[in-house]
Amino acid sequence: MKKIKVCKKCKALVESNLDECPLCHGKEFGENPKGMIIVLDPKNSEIAKKLGIGKEGKYAVKV
Ligand SMILES: [Zn+2]
Repeated sequence: MKKIKVCKKCKALVESNLDECPLCHGKEFGENPKGMIIVLDPKNSEIAKKLGIGKEGKYAVKV
């Protein structure tokens, strides 16, 4: 199973072998994402708006 970490800047879930977030190029990560949401359509997703997510992908609810 692949390990994941969570970008502190945009809350995206990132594979732990990457040292840069592919979405926002942030380099600060947290280790224990709490809850996960998959955003498929950020423009029409209330959760995405709430979390300030503008791109589709997998995100942690809390960092
Ligand atoms: Zn990021």
